[in-house]
Amino acid sequence: MGILMKCIYCLEDKRSNLFTRDHVLPESFGSFEKNFTLINTVCGVCNEFFGKGIETYLARDTFEGGTLRYETNVKNLSEFKSMGKKGQLKIKILKGKYKGAYVYTNDSNKDGGVLITPCPQIGFLKSCGDYEYYLLDKIPHKHNLNQSEYNLKDIRSIKVLACDPDDAKKILNEKGFVIENFRDIEIPNDFNDKFLCEVERDVDDTVFRAIAKIGFNYLAYWEGTDFVIQSSFDPIRKYIRCGKKPDIPLRGMQKGPFFSDEKYSSKKRLGHIIAINWESNERSLVARISLFNFMTYIIRLAKDDYGKYKHIKRGHFFNVKGRNILEMGLG
Ligand SMILES: [Zn+2]
Repeated sequence: MGILMKCIYCLEDKRSNLFTRDHVLPESFGSFEKNFTLINTVCGVCNEFFGKGIETYLARDTFEGGTLRYETNVKNLSEFKSMGKKGQLKIKILKGKYKGAYVYTNDSNKDGGVLITPCPQIGFLKSCGDYEYYLLDKIPHKHNLNQSEYNLKDIRSIKVLACDPDDAKKILNEKGFVIENFRDIEIPNDFNDKFLCEVERDVDDTVFRAIAKIGFNYLAYWEGTDFVIQSSFDPIRKYIRCGKKPDIPLRGMQKGPFFSDEKYSSKKRLGHIIAINWESNERSLVARISLFNFMTYIIRLAKDDYGKYKHIKRGHFFNVKGRNILEMGLG
């Protein structure tokens, strides 16, 4: 039983016994002394929905979750789980010669930036002139490609990226593409990190929703349920809970760590950062979130409602080594 409370995600009124504790930052990213925990704020249904969905992707299928969690000993390697075939790739190139190709990111020690590496994949030329890329384990049979949409008779109609030509040929033959020799196949060797600026905004929505939830949880932790159930937060709420695309752009990304003086890996503070600030130039309430201080995600929580949240300016550093949480000064 218990009294009626409102869940900040589904906005339903439910008895307090139907609510479960929710960590502001998912426990998979470390346990911390006096950790920020939401009580009677998120209902059990929403909590389970997030835990089985977007938060699993964040923990297993991002560079921060899939690699850095293990490198930094937040998790033991024996616990490593990959999303495998269900895993979603984070990044697709948006324009240029390799538009549509799949890449994943690498941390670069050189300048603190992010390098990208192509995934092994094969692209098929479409009638519109673009290529449609498929990962090696997802190559469709020739019969399943809608022939009217593709231009497969054309020379260079198949593009092989980042895989052994013989492997590609074997797979293509198995899928009904008759490949006698590789004259007709393009195997570029100029595929490198110069595509950086074109890919940075295309991190998968699922991951962004999980990141946005961390920011929204943080806001709820400090400002309380009554504050975050206001309608100004409905777009971000629906994006997190249902994946509904908002009318205003809600997300962005900044290469490199949170602090601009920490471009070099050796200087990076090891931990997670959550900060919320009102940005008058954007007229928005903005959360900046960095997991392992690797890359900074920018989430717009609400827009054009200055009066309601001008007082908000807050940030915390989740210190992975010391397992404590430190308040940050935001200038
Ligand atoms: Zn709920």
